[in-house]
Amino acid sequence: MQTQTFERMESNVRTYSRSFPVVFSKAQGARLTDENGREYIDFLAGAGTLNYGHNNPELKKALVDYLATDGVVHGLDMWTSAKREYFEALDELILKPRNLDYKIQLPGPTGTNAAEAAIRLARKVKQRHNIVAFTNGFHGITMGALAPTGNRKFRENTGGVPTVGGSFVPYDGYMGDAIDTLDYFEKLLGDKSGGLDLPAAAIVETVQGEGGINVSGLEWLKRLEGICHDNDILLIIDDIQAGCGRTGKFFSFEHAGVVPDMVLNSKSLSGFGLPFSHVLMRPELDQWEPGQYNGTFRGFNLAMITAAAALKQYWSDDTLAKDVQRKGKIVEERFQKLASQLTDAGMPASERGRGLMRGIDVETGDIADKISGKAFEHGLIIETSGQDGEVVKCLCPLTITDEELEKGLSILETAVKEVIGG
Ligand SMILES: *Cc1c(COP(=O)(O)O)cnc(C)c1O
Repeated sequence: MQTQTFERMESNVRTYSRSFPVVFSKAQGARLTDENGREYIDFLAGAGTLNYGHNNPELKKALVDYLATDGVVHGLDMWTSAKREYFEALDELILKPRNLDYKIQLPGPTGTNAAEAAIRLARKVKQRHNIVAFTNGFHGITMGALAPTGNRKFRENTGGVPTVGGSFVPYDGYMGDAIDTLDYFEKLLGDKSGGLDLPAAAIVETVQGEGGINVSGLEWLKRLEGICHDNDILLIIDDIQAGCGRTGKFFSFEHAGVVPDMVLNSKSLSGFGLPFSHVLMRPELDQWEPGQYNGTFRGFNLAMITAAAALKQYWSDDTLAKDVQRKGKIVEERFQKLASQLTDAGMPASERGRGLMRGIDVETGDIADKISGKAFEHGLIIETSGQDGEVVKCLCPLTITDEELEKGLSILETAVKEVIGG
């Protein structure tokens, strides 16, 4: 495989090609194929962007049909039949059945674009600058989204320009199981000399993806909603990675029965790996003036075509949701086994997650990298996350077959055995 072109031309900033240094040429479902024809099971799936698998046939058909009839590809944010089709599908299949009443803002097509837009709107509506974020949270890498993002790797590369407007409080479990971290948040809010500027909003992931599959408790989330409500703070749920069915419900916050003021979606929203994001907001928060926040690529029509097709294909009933919970249990059991094998071998490890968003925390990035590296040698693509990359994380397509899931898990088992064996 010829890789010199990349080595010569691509910026040093590249990431995933370092862990998986082959050239991929084909992808289908939960499988990627490299230029030598070698197949890999994909447990990375675009970091949660391919919940319905690579080149999903139903979605591909909708896309090809739309293109074949000269459907509008780009139209700024003008009305198109594609946009109406998506809005109607979202309303009928997702919002109405869940009793949710949201307006939709289409910012630029990436997750960080949605985080920026929501943060800006919260500040505008509340006329306050501060955004409360949680330790290990990740919301994107542009300056506004960076303020509530915890990881120093990103925070320290601004050339000294401060990332202002964010205050961190500990996420659920951050201080150990015995401490409810919201006691601290609530105490600060009630203390006139606690040092916390009254926030416009709190932004939170229900399961932290990049932060290392940290799972917040359902009561904790419900309590957070109450604290926000009592203190006139908007609750923004960043569902960019945990949403679109990943945890076993379309929105990850449904498990806790909370109703956020704003919701961020991206990654698997188009269903096909096409760039697409939106901010859902309670109608009274829609205080934007026309054109006050813009962007050339707001609402990519091709992405809305596949997004509508994905909703119709997978969210007209609860078949997929139930299947995610079933497969999640399979992964959970296998990960628990691997964690205890590692622990018994003197490498303390534990399993955690919700639905098909799961990880094994092996406590050091070094061990996690070794596991991921060995897995790759045997034909499995699986990445790490967490502050030190210490969590091996499974984000396999939700539509993965049982056979492929089994194959991926047994490769991971082999990798763990090899790492234990030295
Ligand atoms: C990936 C991610 C983002 C950023 O999305 P990009 O498309 O990479 O800008 C924001 N929040 C969460 C929770 C994410 O997982």
